[in-house]
Amino acid sequence: MIDVLIIGAGPTGLTLAVDLARRGIRHRIIDPGTPTGSRGKGLQPRTLEVFDDLGVIGALLDTGGLYPPIRAYAGAEVVWEGRMAEPKDASDAVPYPNGLMVPQWRTEQILRDRLAELGGRVEKAELATFAQDADGVTATLADGTIVHAAYLVGADGGRSTVRKTLGISFAGETRAEERALIGDVRTADLDRDHWHTWADLETRTARVGLCPLAGTDDFQFTAPIPASENPELTLATYQKMLEAGSGRTDIRLTDLTWSSIYRVNIRMAERFRDGRVFLAGDAAHVHSPAGGQGLNTGVQDAYNLGWKLAAVINGGPPALLDTYEEERLPVAAGVLGISTKLHEKAARGQADAYQRGEELQQLLLGYPDSSLSAGPLGGTRAPDAVLHDKSGIRHRLHDLLRGPHFTVLAFDTEFEHPDVRVVTIGERGDYTGTEVQATYAAGLALIRPDGYIACTGDAPEIRTHLARLGAAAA
Ligand SMILES: Cc1cc2nc3c(=O)[nH]c(=O)nc-3n(C[C@H](O)[C@H](O)[C@H](O)COP(=O)(O)OP(=O)(O)OC[C@H]3O[C@@H](n4cnc5c(N)ncnc54)[C@H](O)[C@@H]3O)c2cc1C
Repeated sequence: MIDVLIIGAGPTGLTLAVDLARRGIRHRIIDPGTPTGSRGKGLQPRTLEVFDDLGVIGALLDTGGLYPPIRAYAGAEVVWEGRMAEPKDASDAVPYPNGLMVPQWRTEQILRDRLAELGGRVEKAELATFAQDADGVTATLADGTIVHAAYLVGADGGRSTVRKTLGISFAGETRAEERALIGDVRTADLDRDHWHTWADLETRTARVGLCPLAGTDDFQFTAPIPASENPELTLATYQKMLEAGSGRTDIRLTDLTWSSIYRVNIRMAERFRDGRVFLAGDAAHVHSPAGGQGLNTGVQDAYNLGWKLAAVINGGPPALLDTYEEERLPVAAGVLGISTKLHEKAARGQADAYQRGEELQQLLLGYPDSSLSAGPLGGTRAPDAVLHDKSGIRHRLHDLLRGPHFTVLAFDTEFEHPDVRVVTIGERGDYTGTEVQATYAAGLALIRPDGYIACTGDAPEIRTHLARLGAAAA
């Protein structure tokens, strides 16, 4: 019997697999190998911090790029140009202040490569059904193979077989009339420095867009289509839609490498857990692509679940697993509300429909109301900070947090515990850092493996909290 069977190797399943692999948890991850295309191409700042912790940030930064300015045309004439958000400089607290564009297929490839480095791999297989009892889950794959696991995670996308098998309702709406033709194409007739768009100038609603995909020669094509149309997914269709939407015949499309019709779905599972089975990512919540939240929210789900599964598998308190739904369901509901509002603004042609603010970066999300959080900072993201060691060498706090461990920041005080990494800060400590001291203003601060502050307090409080968090087992 293995510890965890992950269904689906999209960004959510792969993030979980990488996290479990680095923790030495026996797992398998299966996927039939459905082509992904560029789909979720925007990685938000908080996701970049997660990917930094998981060891893939270098590869992502090498291939990704900032979102280019949007250029709106009337035919060949440029009528408006602007950015969704002005690029910001990195600060001590926020190392990745801007969204990074990486086509989803490449993010998945980078995660798969990391998984391979850690000794794991995605197996080509499909879940047919499963059953669970008090001891574990028995999964039946499409080829008849049986897999026994202590836990099963459904990261199998919006149409999730896992969710359906559990009979968990997926409440919300499908806006059947709001559909879009999407795909990855090439053209030599447009520059790669702008996201080229054509809209109905009266209603300001989008007609067709071509976004250059960083690190590739491709463009992501998007064009709304009426509910009644079911066009053939051929290059000729994309060409025809481009010409109809832009009024131009001088832009030749080539190399259609991925094609799909997208329907707007806004839904959330009523529960994220049933016994030994969990739902994560699109299996648990589906969003409008407006605001680029879907993939990012799935990655954060996996990152929240990974350390808890590991702790419980290693003998930590089983109640820890209840906090996955407790913490992630309200976050998913909030994100769903934000992306739906943006989607509706775009549908109505509102002038600020493409302005992107801080609420989308996911840096402000946290778990202040969680039963795992205590005190004024409990549940908030541990900001990055600059520290100096005794030799005056500069360090980043996030470098010290990187890895699967719990961390205790000890300010001008000592603390010892076998299951945490202790970082002593202050005149008598290993590091100095005025900013970090100002942020925490506390004797001791306990930081969870997923980079959220659990609590601040004195040594007995931190020890009690560590026991509740299963630190000895994580
Ligand atoms: C046009 C478009 C643009 C988008 N832009 C953004 C963006 O900018 N930012 C953002 O965050 N999100 C964006 N999204 C959303 C994003 O693509 C999804 O939220 C993301 O793919 C969800 O990841 P996931 O791993 O949860 O699910 P998926 O990516 O759907 O992966 C599920 C996996 O499960 C596998 N699977 C399914 N059934 C089974 C089974 N029975 N057995 C085994 N495996 C199975 C599938 O093959 C698939 O590989 C966009 C989506 C679209 C359509």
